[in-house]
Amino acid sequence: GITLDAADRTLVAGVLARQLRPLAKTITLVESQREDHKLRARAVLEALLPASGGAVRIGISGVPGVGKSTFIEALGLYLIGQGHRIAVLAVDPSSTLTGGSILGDKTRMELLSRETAAFIRPSPSAGSLGGVAEKTRETMLVCEAAGFDVIIVETVGVGQSETAVAGMTDMFCLLQLPNAGDDLQAMKKGIVELADLIVVNKADIDAAAATRAKAQLQTALHLLRPASPNWSPPVLTLSALQKEGVEAFWRTVGEYCDIMRRSGEFDSRRRNQALAWMWELIDAGLRSRFRGDGQVREALPRLAAAVQAGETTPAAAALTLLGYLG
Ligand code: GDP
Repeated sequence: GITLDAADRTLVAGVLARQLRPLAKTITLVESQREDHKLRARAVLEALLPASGGAVRIGISGVPGVGKSTFIEALGLYLIGQGHRIAVLAVDPSSTLTGGSILGDKTRMELLSRETAAFIRPSPSAGSLGGVAEKTRETMLVCEAAGFDVIIVETVGVGQSETAVAGMTDMFCLLQLPNAGDDLQAMKKGIVELADLIVVNKADIDAAAATRAKAQLQTALHLLRPASPNWSPPVLTLSALQKEGVEAFWRTVGEYCDIMRRSGEFDSRRRNQALAWMWELIDAGLRSRFRGDGQVREALPRLAAAVQAGETTPAAAALTLLGYLG
């Protein structure tokens, strides 16, 4: 395989020794777009892989303003109090489009960010959603190798990022506001189907509304075919601001993990995720090889024009182009 140079061996040792600077440097390497960095990152990740996998990976999603950062901060501080080390990562594809991010990383989770047992990393901002998700997955492995035992992957309740985050975490949690319109939105976009747990936040504002929302969501969940034969996603009400329900949330995570581990589904989900990730990378690799091929580049404009003009069929053009790859 791939060998590490002395500097990268030091980096790996530093991560394994749970040192913060090597951790940050490794993640910067993993996120880099430079070809030489990509090669080094691959070797470093291979070296760290045996030490990874030990965390509970939790996805947290919800529309902007629902209270994700307030909740993650409350949860993080609670978990640190219980002796855990928590890493908070983000998947925010909007940052690749606008340069700014919906999650807005600057002033968030100020208390949590001061804790040495917490590590907060904003969303990588390079490339497509696929690129952002890939780097977040790899960063997650690095954090696990550095001994973080709870990984939170946060995402915004827009676009396809939910599917990506559900595909890299053990448990996907959806935060909702206590009003029906919001519930319907998530239903429409198919996000509720992904949820292993739904949390109605801001229950302190209107407890009755939160209880109503909970009942509606439970009804909606009953109509869906459960994703797991071993687990029916529950609905919790919570106030992130007043830190009420955080303990119950963590208890539910524990119950979920116990049940999933005992049934074998915890491990099979991870195995399937790893395999799906491999295929995603193969698809992306083939696509980029295809687009980089000299013959393809030469013939593509002509064949694309012929397809548009109806002079050749899409199937014939595709076969010709794929033929260049050999
Ligand atoms: P995010 O965009 O999902 O990360 O949401 P934030 O955590 O930034 O919260 C958005 C606003 O809602 C902030 O002003 C929070 O103080 C407020 N907020 C968050 N959780 C609660 C809650 O449980 N109760 C109340 N009343 N306000 C909350």
